[in-house]
Amino acid sequence: MDTDSNALRETPTGSVDTDVAAGIRTTERFRCFPQRDDMFNRAFWDDTIRGPETMEFFDSYRVGPVSRRGDGFTQKDFALRNAAWALSDEFSSRGQHEGIREGFNALLQPTVEPAATQVEVDDPDAMAAEIKRIAKLFGAGIVGIAPYDPRWTYAGRVDSKTFEARETGLPDGMTSVVVLGHEMDIGMVATYPSAIAGAATGNTYSEEASTLIRLSQYIRNLGWQAAGSMNDTALVIPYALQAGLGEYARNQLVITPEFGPRVRFSKVFTDLPLAHDGPRMLGVRAFCEVCTRCTDACPVKALPSGPPTEERPNRSALRGVVKWTSNAEKCFGFWAVLRSDCAICLRVCPWNRDFSQWPNRLWRWLAARGARRWLIRLEGVTGRGQRRRSKPWWLRSQAGEPQSTR
Ligand code: SF4
Ligand code: SF4
Repeated sequence: MDTDSNALRETPTGSVDTDVAAGIRTTERFRCFPQRDDMFNRAFWDDTIRGPETMEFFDSYRVGPVSRRGDGFTQKDFALRNAAWALSDEFSSRGQHEGIREGFNALLQPTVEPAATQVEVDDPDAMAAEIKRIAKLFGAGIVGIAPYDPRWTYAGRVDSKTFEARETGLPDGMTSVVVLGHEMDIGMVATYPSAIAGAATGNTYSEEASTLIRLSQYIRNLGWQAAGSMNDTALVIPYALQAGLGEYARNQLVITPEFGPRVRFSKVFTDLPLAHDGPRMLGVRAFCEVCTRCTDACPVKALPSGPPTEERPNRSALRGVVKWTSNAEKCFGFWAVLRSDCAICLRVCPWNRDFSQWPNRLWRWLAARGARRWLIRLEGVTGRGQRRRSKPWWLRSQAGEPQSTR
């Protein structure tokens, strides 16, 4: 049954002025998302999703890798993937007896209380610049700051023991959200689907935990509140858009000018007075309107080919938002078969490029100026985005060679 019976919060009404600029369109049917409906949680309580394959998927990250024949799924590949997740796992295991998975269904628990003496902030612009510098010092690749927006906070978090809805635990009075982008390794991503590529995901989760815990402590030591958050507590994509880090794409990812879609986001909620960034358009939406490479490449046809709609394929999708929405049930079903995450739709995206190289910066410039159809044809002709084998990844890594020059 598809209900909001697990909503512990009222849905806030109204929208912020920056919605249009950020490419966000909510309708009167919008409701805050109950985290219990997330696919990774439904896989535990929803009998239409839960099965031996889904349990083996989760077990493979902890209990032991299930190696098999086939490029990218050897014991060594799985070992690398699981090791990449290890630091994130340390945090997510800490509160398991209380139904808490830090970073996934609950905030990272504070290491210290805010200092009794509060550092005065008379220049929010300067403080925002400082927080961005410190976030990068602690490992973030890109940083933007958005105003706190209660629409994106979950209607309730999920208890990982009972799978019942709980209060999110977000402290009152938050005014800003510092959004951090963590780059995924380009050579690993080129091997999707594989356990090696899963290491790119695990690495960024572990980096998120490490960066968030340090940045949050810095802010608390200044005497202000700070709550580090990964997949828990609130949606991050709308915040990344509002913070000007990128633009929403057909493959359900945020495409950034620095890393394209090859980036994961985390966030820090705070009441530290900070200047906010504004949304930034790159021409991604116009590009996706004439491109379906991700949709065509998806093995289970989980991505839409038409314009953005309010349609919800199932209860794991947001209610009352006009956007490109994947069928998360089909998508996760494929992950379960693989026993690892899939991001073929990221790998094949023409924006998945190394923008430190000038030809790719020229490509980005052209992509934003109407050469879209020609650029998409070029992708097909050159064969960019094809899967790379994992064995050469290991060989290049042993030789200390760069993994990709594209
Ligand atoms: S992650 Fe894989 S299965 Fe899911 S939408 Fe992308 S290509 Fe399809
Ligand atoms: S593959 Fe094409 S349609 Fe899909 S997200 Fe990338 S640019 Fe957009």
